[in-house]
Amino acid sequence: MERKSFELGDIVQMKKPHPCGTNEMEIIRMGMDIRIKCVGCQHSVLIPRAKFEKNMKKVLRSKSNADEQNSETI
Ligand SMILES: [Zn+2]
Repeated sequence: MERKSFELGDIVQMKKPHPCGTNEMEIIRMGMDIRIKCVGCQHSVLIPRAKFEKNMKKVLRSKSNADEQNSETI
């Protein structure tokens, strides 16, 4: 099993897509509970960390990697 690591600002893919059809969520708050925001419709939900880890499929873009991608386009 691959260990899941994620941090604030990451864009993650969940196992179940949001009802709006988007399957990308941004982590906007971390703590005992995790708040994620749908990239498609901006709807945010607060879920327990254990449930988040179970439902998260993978990290699509981490905040640190995004900085590198931005520098390429400049
Ligand atoms: Zn949505």
